[in-house]
Amino acid sequence: MTEVSSIGAGRATSAPLVGNAAEPTIYEISAPGRRADSLPGIDVEISGGRDDGLNPAMIAEGMPKLPEVSERDLVAHYTRLSQRTFAVDIGAYPLGSCTMKYNPKVVDRIASNPGWMGLHPSQGPSQTQGALELLVRLETELCEITGMERATLQPAAGAAGELTGLLLMRAFHEANGDARRRVLIPDSAHGTNPASVTLGGYQVAQVPSSDRGLVDIDALRAMADTDVAGIMLTNPNTLGLFEEDIVEIARIMHDVGALLYYDGANLNAIMGITRPGDMGFDIVHLNLHKTFATPHGAGGPGAGPVAVSNRLVDFLPGPLPELDSATATYRWRDPARSIGRVHGENGNFAILVRAYAYLSSLGAAGLETASRMAVLNANYLKALIDNSIGIPFGQTCMHEFVATASTLRKKHGVKALDIAKALIDYGYHPPTMYFPLIVDEALMIEPTETESRETIEQLADALADIVERVAVDPSALDSAPTGTLVGRLDEATAARRFKPRIDFGNEEAT
Ligand SMILES: *Cc1c(COP(=O)(O)O)cnc(C)c1O
Repeated sequence: MTEVSSIGAGRATSAPLVGNAAEPTIYEISAPGRRADSLPGIDVEISGGRDDGLNPAMIAEGMPKLPEVSERDLVAHYTRLSQRTFAVDIGAYPLGSCTMKYNPKVVDRIASNPGWMGLHPSQGPSQTQGALELLVRLETELCEITGMERATLQPAAGAAGELTGLLLMRAFHEANGDARRRVLIPDSAHGTNPASVTLGGYQVAQVPSSDRGLVDIDALRAMADTDVAGIMLTNPNTLGLFEEDIVEIARIMHDVGALLYYDGANLNAIMGITRPGDMGFDIVHLNLHKTFATPHGAGGPGAGPVAVSNRLVDFLPGPLPELDSATATYRWRDPARSIGRVHGENGNFAILVRAYAYLSSLGAAGLETASRMAVLNANYLKALIDNSIGIPFGQTCMHEFVATASTLRKKHGVKALDIAKALIDYGYHPPTMYFPLIVDEALMIEPTETESRETIEQLADALADIVERVAVDPSALDSAPTGTLVGRLDEATAARRFKPRIDFGNEEAT
């Protein structure tokens, strides 16, 4: 073990290579008239008329205030900014529930093929047979992985998939003349679940967890009645634990005519091993951007397909791509009782291409190996840190687990937040903090299958180092991170009272 005084020093692999904290904004390096492109002047007459039907009140009076910069300054500015942020391509990113695994470059290469990139969503089937075939193949594979009948690829993210699933649940019950009001959700659920239930017009009823971190089956039984439209479950749940009573849960729900919704945002633990359809689920959403190789975070584009069992197929958003066997061509078709579109076009197509490329490159056996590695890595890391940081639920975990800084807080006054911030100085992205809500001082850790054994061991060493430093000096982490350009921020003020450094000439933008 290193001397305490030297721990953390000079190890900040996440620290930027160049630049300083005072990197100007792109507006501040703007110079009037400077351009990244120089185009030849117009050699045709400019049409002067305003008889284009536009409402004159909607026509801007001048040019918008855009930064005017050379290509060189533009590239330098954004390259400097990119070097002061953390990314999956830099190091381990154990952000539980978010599945920040390394995304193989081959899928980007395939998605950037000009044949895909040049497509316009309004092109009809005669010009887009290849794209429709890809959508059909992807849908078929996702249905095979989840044990479902058909899927819509339209929803643009996990939460959008959840809302779609709840609208399907509502359409199903209403078609049976069966108005129901409540949807059950365990208290460990992701925050988007209750939000989606509310948006879908249902009331949330919270199911407590047992002391083993699983759905309290007796409480569930007491809550199940014919006013319950369905239950939303994550399995493995957000504590990284597999709901062992899932078959019984499905029976209780189906007995009262309720549907089972599977939050499959994170499918990393079960691919090729078990399927929501075999557990009794009726509706599943998947986050292609988490499990199937699209870099995400920072709110980038996502894809949240929703797959359903046979009895819900007719309600799916339309149109669905299909192979017409009579003509051997692909076409679009609206399901009989479709809830309508949930996306302006056909979903975030480039992400669907990535997912298909990822699935094709791994194959069925490769997918299963990925899941087994994800579970092995999580359990190895959990075993390695068991002595330094508390693990509230000790049983074998799936692709992630939740640790608690509760004891450290009581002994040394150190919070989960301090540990997360300290990890940045060791070159790792912090884990998810303070979620799920039912664990005090929670640190939710998901190493993913893409990290090597050495990386897992180094991450465990870093956590052990942090805990040792705190035992010697409880204030050791107070100012972490120290190796970054910007140190510990007041996060509430930074998010809520953000002050732009430049005047956009727009009074509302403050
Ligand atoms: C990430 C996540 C969601 C939400 O997905 P988005 O694409 O961020 O909308 C829902 N449930 C769980 C369990 C998640 O981890």
